[in-house]
Amino acid sequence: MGIRTVAVFSDADRNSPFVEQADIAVYLGESEPVKSYLNQDNIVEISLQQKVDAIHPGFGFLAENAQFAQKCIDAGIIFIGPSPDAIASMGSKSAAKRIMQKAGVPCVPGYQGKVQTIKRLEEEALKVGFPLLLKATAGGGGKGMRIVRKKSELKEAIKSAKSEAKNAFDNDELIIEKYIESGRHIEFQIIGDEHGNLIHLLERECSIQRRYQKIIEESPSPVLTNKLRNEMGDIAVKAGKAINYSNAGTVEFILAENNGKFDYYFLEMNTRLQVEHPVTEEITGLDLVQLQIEVAEGRKLKLKQKDIRGCGYAIECRLYAEDAENDFMPSTGKILKWEIPESEGLRVETDICSGGEVSIYYDPMIAKVITYGTDRAIAHRKMEYALKHLQCVGITTNQDFLVYLMQHKAFQEGDYDTHFIKEKCDYTSERKHTENNLAITSIMATLLDWQERENKRKLLKSLSSGWRNNFYQNQFQNYLFKEKNLSVQYKYNEGGFIFQIEEQNYEVKRLSISNNKISLEVNGVFYQSTIIKELNKYYIYTPELGNYILEAIERFPDNESEKVKGGYIAPMPSQILRILVEVEQEVKEGEPLIVITSMKMENTIYADEAGVVKEIFVTEGENVEAGFQLLLMDS
Ligand code: ADP
Ligand code: ADP
Ligand code: MG
Repeated sequence: MGIRTVAVFSDADRNSPFVEQADIAVYLGESEPVKSYLNQDNIVEISLQQKVDAIHPGFGFLAENAQFAQKCIDAGIIFIGPSPDAIASMGSKSAAKRIMQKAGVPCVPGYQGKVQTIKRLEEEALKVGFPLLLKATAGGGGKGMRIVRKKSELKEAIKSAKSEAKNAFDNDELIIEKYIESGRHIEFQIIGDEHGNLIHLLERECSIQRRYQKIIEESPSPVLTNKLRNEMGDIAVKAGKAINYSNAGTVEFILAENNGKFDYYFLEMNTRLQVEHPVTEEITGLDLVQLQIEVAEGRKLKLKQKDIRGCGYAIECRLYAEDAENDFMPSTGKILKWEIPESEGLRVETDICSGGEVSIYYDPMIAKVITYGTDRAIAHRKMEYALKHLQCVGITTNQDFLVYLMQHKAFQEGDYDTHFIKEKCDYTSERKHTENNLAITSIMATLLDWQERENKRKLLKSLSSGWRNNFYQNQFQNYLFKEKNLSVQYKYNEGGFIFQIEEQNYEVKRLSISNNKISLEVNGVFYQSTIIKELNKYYIYTPELGNYILEAIERFPDNESEKVKGGYIAPMPSQILRILVEVEQEVKEGEPLIVITSMKMENTIYADEAGVVKEIFVTEGENVEAGFQLLLMDS
């Protein structure tokens, strides 16, 4: 569009690609969001200094902050988004539902009233019936929700949901909704101008979620008929018009099957561009950010509803720095290699690069992978290819889990709902780290070191060839993969190697190693992988086998002595949010001790057994590595 761009960055993002891509990038402050990306006044001030005439807030941080939108306007800067009023009215789940009900938009049956006493909430909950969902009125990002299945759990659930909401959003108001057991998340993209024109840009299905948060989005939805699509689209437009909406927004619905017929209910409206907007762009051929900028400039929307046609099929997978085999715990670290395959119909949006770092400060989403095809099966197949051939080496990501989802038969058939990951995927046990996979990867690690020694030895020409004799005897090497010990023996044999791992023999030929690439033939099968060594860790990626991180060790650790009795450790790199106990305090089993946060996720450490707090090794606000001991208890 020929527009000059100014970006802002924090310490953690100083070396990010976007800093170079923008015409000018200005330093905002320290990594913690409150000191940089959430510092409204500082952002406005920098914008004035840089003579910025409009701010695009992206899709996180201040994107749905009415106060910030107002501050921009007051400073004479265009906020590229809806009006502060529209943001504020949709920012509260209760106010939003009251407005929508009035406008005739079907909402999930429930209670969204202002009276918030526990007694009243209990009464209203009984009217709604079980199962029900308690939601924080000010909630978002899947946080602060609680399912209640029976009356006996109700009171406690209300109390704890209130305190959780208070802690997370500084607002303890709740709404109550009937819980839709097997619902699908279907949302409609809308766009409006400042002259009263508003249309929808078709739907996105986002039912593949973990922790109530989307990880795969596709369009068109495999279940919508054209009739239902038009009907829901009209309702989405009605929802937008009810609040005089301008700019891009999303109306979220939950769709439930009821004896072969579909019911749908309004969930909430997101008053910003969404993470999954590329899916809509791919099938409509529109550029949503361009449209946002144009309407923010006060131009009239040229598009009419009848101009909007979906063509083909698009899907997005969110690549997260998290461990799908360990309850989707976020992970951090250095990205040793990042490489995107070349493929027609593939679009990748990211801000990471080789050598970049994933820190604890921001969301664990590190890239979005989008594929387009003329039909669903083609787009899906391209996605599987793209995911398998993408290289993100050095940190744990959900890459292999996404491949697994793409290969899941029920997902391929469109037979899924919002509980798919929890109920239909037992990935931790289904991801097969077969003996063969582990053998291949440990052979690669071993030969990388062998090659390194070979290279060094060749330089020392004076050494007698007798050294070579070593390779006629078995060499030993031990590795650790997750909790599994791998013991490797090998010897050099006529231009190749014979490996012995767990009583199995492997014959290795045609070894070639250069530039972090290894290729070899093992028992007649040829493999090509990326392999990078950092300290004693080997990061190995093979398109067919996925990602493996092996650790070379001298001897196998003694599991018992590793654990400090009564010691509580940080399960991931994190920041200490709150310390709930004091030294010498007596605690009961299950009592919360410390709350830590990492990448927008809060985690509470509870007491495994009753005891007395002996020592606390951390202070609030401190950052700790995974495995750091937080406190010591005496039982
Ligand atoms: P969606 O509604 O599209 O599913 P999410 O609710 O998952 O989006 O999250 C909104 C966005 O907030 C994330 O995609 C992310 O870019 C952004 N974000 C990242 N880090 C932070 C942070 N520390 N605080 C607030 N928002 C953040
Ligand atoms: P957030 O602001 O956190 O995005 P939403 O209201 O959009 O909150 O809900 C997030 C997800 O939670 C939905 O996509 C859906 O999977 C689930 N959900 C929300 N409300 C209900 C409900 N009433 N019944 C069943 N699932 C629900
Ligand atoms: Mg939502």
